[in-house]
Amino acid sequence: MHSNSVIELNRSAYQNNLQFIKNTFGDKVIFSSVVKGNAYGHGIAQFVLMAFQCGVNHFSVFDVQEAKEIKKTLQDQVTILVMGLVQDDEMEWVIQNNIEFFVFDKNRLSQAVKIAKKLALKAVIHIEVETGMNRTGFDINEVNEVIAIVKKQINQLNFKGLCTHYAGAESISNHDRVSNQIKNFEGIYQQFCQNDLIPEIRHTACSAASIMFPETRMDLIRVGIIQYGLWPSPEVFITYLHSQKNIIDPLQRVISWKSKIMSIKAVHTGDFIGYGTSFMAKRMTKIATVPIGYSHGYSRSLSNQGRVLIHGQRCVVIGSVNMNMMTVDVTDIDLAKQNDEVVLIGIQKELSITVASFSDFSDQLNYELLTRISTAIPRKIIE
Ligand SMILES: *Cc1c(COP(=O)(O)O)cnc(C)c1O
Repeated sequence: MHSNSVIELNRSAYQNNLQFIKNTFGDKVIFSSVVKGNAYGHGIAQFVLMAFQCGVNHFSVFDVQEAKEIKKTLQDQVTILVMGLVQDDEMEWVIQNNIEFFVFDKNRLSQAVKIAKKLALKAVIHIEVETGMNRTGFDINEVNEVIAIVKKQINQLNFKGLCTHYAGAESISNHDRVSNQIKNFEGIYQQFCQNDLIPEIRHTACSAASIMFPETRMDLIRVGIIQYGLWPSPEVFITYLHSQKNIIDPLQRVISWKSKIMSIKAVHTGDFIGYGTSFMAKRMTKIATVPIGYSHGYSRSLSNQGRVLIHGQRCVVIGSVNMNMMTVDVTDIDLAKQNDEVVLIGIQKELSITVASFSDFSDQLNYELLTRISTAIPRKIIE
């Protein structure tokens, strides 16, 4: 197990975010915590345990591997919804374990029917329809056939949900496209109703849609990024602020990432630092080596740009980020010595390194940056 750094999950920050979600969306909407991508890098096992202890009982994942992770941690105490891939040889486990899943094509639908029949059980399905994202989902011209199949096989199928996903609700530039999707979804829902096939619930909203288009909330919201204390985009944050009296960010970052100084050395004026010639010391420079590199998910594009905190001061990454190490400039921190704490994401004294601040430098999305943090780093829940 990697011991060069640690990821901390802050329980009270998470509770704060849950309270925000409850206040904003009310009690009638089911909150499904989206934990794909190793819970957005937070560590799925530790994260779902913490969430469950805070009262969350519905989780959405991408694939069956992730569903199994949750099952291992929380057994039958929660609902698990697979939004993406169920491979043919996983279908049996899925139905046996009452895992709910998206059905977005006829192969998946007939596979569900076949295995449910074999097991003499019902598959709990959410029918995903294409409304304009053009990723997965039944086309409008397939809907009548789907309705016929589901009605015919109703002994094998529990038609739990009707759903879709929006193509970029976090950006105003997609406003028309998303508005059309909302209309298309309503039309398809009516088509089901006219054929006397009514889903138990309807759901379409991710974090951004739930804020930007309140009508998308329906019966359940699939919320990822907001629960971790981050906004899907600056536009969503600004839209939210405009609806409020106070200009304060109601969310709190759950994740922190900390390491320690591995070694310290002095570099002479005019010397290059690290591989190649990307950084030349313009003065007598004191550098600290930190045992974190791109193999741990600290992006190489943060070379000569990233910031970390040491002794409550912001220090710049100098030279290129290596596979397992990087060097930071600590010339102005007399106290800096081996084993001192280095904050890569999080707070130290008065300063903070946000996930967004490091994604601005590296031009990556919050989402991408978080999910690239190595699964090998231990995750710890703190109060
Ligand atoms: C990832 C995902 C979500 C959650 O998105 P956030 O922007 O993190 O809230 C919701 N629905 C689907 C289908 C997803 O893939």
